[in-house]
Amino acid sequence: MDVRVRYAPSPTGLQHIGGVRTALFNYFFARAQRGKFILRIEDTDQERYSDEALEDLYETLSWLGVAWDEGPVVGGPYGPYVQSERFALYKEYAEKLVADGKAYYCYCTPERLEAIRAEQQAKKSEQQGYDRHCRNLTAEERAGYERAGIAPVIRLKVPTEGKTTFHDILMGDITRKNRDVSPDPVLLKSDGFPTYHLANVIDDHMMGITHIMRAQEWIPSGPLHIILYEAFGWVPPAYCHLPMVMGKDGQKLSKRHGSTAVRDFREQGYLSEALLNYVSLVGWSYDGEREFFTREELEELFTLEKINKAPGVFDYKKLDWFNGQYIRQKSDEELLALLLPYLLKAGFASEPIDGETEENLLLLTSSAKERLKVLSDIVPLSRFLFEEPVWEDLSLFAAKGVDIDVATAALDAAYTVLKTGLEAGEESEVIEERLMALAGEMALKVGAVFMPIRVALTGSSVSLPLFDSIRLLGNERALGRIERALAILKSEVR
Ligand code: GLU
Ligand code: ZN
Repeated sequence: MDVRVRYAPSPTGLQHIGGVRTALFNYFFARAQRGKFILRIEDTDQERYSDEALEDLYETLSWLGVAWDEGPVVGGPYGPYVQSERFALYKEYAEKLVADGKAYYCYCTPERLEAIRAEQQAKKSEQQGYDRHCRNLTAEERAGYERAGIAPVIRLKVPTEGKTTFHDILMGDITRKNRDVSPDPVLLKSDGFPTYHLANVIDDHMMGITHIMRAQEWIPSGPLHIILYEAFGWVPPAYCHLPMVMGKDGQKLSKRHGSTAVRDFREQGYLSEALLNYVSLVGWSYDGEREFFTREELEELFTLEKINKAPGVFDYKKLDWFNGQYIRQKSDEELLALLLPYLLKAGFASEPIDGETEENLLLLTSSAKERLKVLSDIVPLSRFLFEEPVWEDLSLFAAKGVDIDVATAALDAAYTVLKTGLEAGEESEVIEERLMALAGEMALKVGAVFMPIRVALTGSSVSLPLFDSIRLLGNERALGRIERALAILKSEVR
């Protein structure tokens, strides 16, 4: 069998982690099976449709390097792949169901439906939803409604007896009593627009989809879809509902946990390789051990058998770790190219970049590489190069447990060591050793000497390695900052 799978998002919001995980699993499965990955736009909900969401979908997939074999833009033999361009088809098929006695016209007004709902609620009645009023209208009754000019909806005749089972590759057989399935849901609205269920089932059939991989939230729709396939006389595809994505607290992943929109991750400076790798491990594993996979490897190795039944946990810390690993694998040149947009945006660089600037930026890059969790970290880490520090909080100069007077004395002594060493052109290792010796002489911890230097140079207690910072600043600027800091400390600390 030639595998054909699809990702069928509704462009109503930004692509989020859960959606992209669904897209990736479908894509990897298709590649590993030498099948086809289809992108279908489910834009039947015109009110919630947004252009921005559609653009974000394309951008996200292209950022991840996920290309679709058939779909919008690229086309394909089963197009169009945008549901709003297929409305005539849905109408035709819904009417065919009516002709076959599997569906019927319903003329109930919104007011009537609302009244039923209110009554059911008041009576706390077991029967929920539509009361199937129009299921057995006589020809005359129908003609009457038609003459009155009421535009009907088309509803599916859900069997009232028996049960419906569908098989899920992960969850096994899932059975529902038919009377618990939604009573005769609308397939075609009175304006001729299809509902999700109708369009989804018709398209999956027409597009030759062999496996449906989608979020577990859709399990409740499963029996209804099976009934719809049966009404059409079609064989349903195989189902594989994917485990939920949740936060570390066991709740469904949501904005409460942090960013969920892929665009936010991209903007903060997560690498697409890292995100793709990590998201692929949320609910799937290769052998329970190996964690690093390139996209190309997953395109070979992915199997449905290794999808977990249990919910997958999206751990932000773990993603940070992956991102750091991927950042450190980059050459300085590659990494600089990724960092540059952030530096440009912060106003720390401007194009064109000349040779000398590039050299400095490469030095910055190599020195920052070990400390970047996300690309945007480069902005706070390099701010000291482009802005003079302002030391609002002088207590920063004092390492933990150190008195500010002592910190000042340490900085004073360190200044002399640094100035002598730097001006003599000594190796940083030599100067560093002398600073450590100084700490010993003053009976201080090493940090008590290095902290005030760091804060004097960068204005921050977190920074690039000390001697890298000095190199990036240049000796003169570096020493000048220490002088300035000392002057302030000496005048303020009494
Ligand atoms: N348009 C639906 C969604 O956004 C598709 C569900 C399905 O894959 O059947 O989730
Ligand atoms: Zn009705």
